Amino acid sequence: MQRVDHTKNVISVEAISFSYDGERDVLEDITLDVHQGDYIGLVGPNGAGKTTLLKVMINLLVPRSGTVKLFGQDIRDFKDWQKIGYVPQKAVRFDANFPATVSEVVLMGRTSGKGFFQRTTDADTEAVGNALEKVGMLGYGERLIGDLSGGQQQRVFIARALVNDPEVVFLDEPTTGVDKKTQDGFYALLQKLNREFGLTIVLVSHDIRRLTREVMHIACVDRTLTCHSSPEEYLSESEAVCVNGKDVKLITHHHRE
Ligand code: ADP
Repeated sequence: MQRVDHTKNVISVEAISFSYDGERDVLEDITLDVHQGDYIGLVGPNGAGKTTLLKVMINLLVPRSGTVKLFGQDIRDFKDWQKIGYVPQKAVRFDANFPATVSEVVLMGRTSGKGFFQRTTDADTEAVGNALEKVGMLGYGERLIGDLSGGQQQRVFIARALVNDPEVVFLDEPTTGVDKKTQDGFYALLQKLNREFGLTIVLVSHDIRRLTREVMHIACVDRTLTCHSSPEEYLSESEAVCVNGKDVKLITHHHRE
């Protein structure tokens, strides 16, 4: 496990506003810090701007104003993208005939600066094995991805995001369309990755209630940041504020020991 310094800023979002059309702000004046080892849930209703915020945090979208820093560096100059893993929304489900093995799918996440048809190195093979092991899928490498269940495929997508041994992983609505048992296994895996491997996790979900049982911090987004608190504080005092969307409620950052 890497040494986790909970005071170290991994992501700093400062006074971000974002608009798709140049007229209406989808995000307005959002300021949010994520520290090393944090497990944070970005929650809010559909259309609130959660995915947009996540994409701003990884430079897939550029804000109209404000700044984003990753590991203390302005995102515009940031180059260490292997430190970042991303599991996008609606990660493609493969059907039974898709001609790729689990290992090949995980290998697609490997950023080694080579062209697609370059030979796989021993380091690549080892990285794929390590990532599969972390998600409990070692031994599935030669299976066809389409032969796996939805829950197993989801683990493979996470392995793909972990293959460069990142320090932070962003996941966007990863439990959409999966059954309760699969969800439970998925959340248990994220807990393990956070606690055992010190992985910083940013998870987008509209399932606020479920997230309050999982994450260290809840950040409610509804165009603005309507609250940022621990799950306990959220349940005891912030929920009404978030639901009503009236005030910004910023509560001191607490950390799990
Ligand atoms: P959430 O993830 O909370 O459901 P999104 O970030 O996806 O919210 O969307 C926030 C708002 O931005 C919504 O009103 C949505 O319709 C709009 N939006 C999202 N993507 C685009 C896009 N590519 N072009 C224009 N508007 C968009």
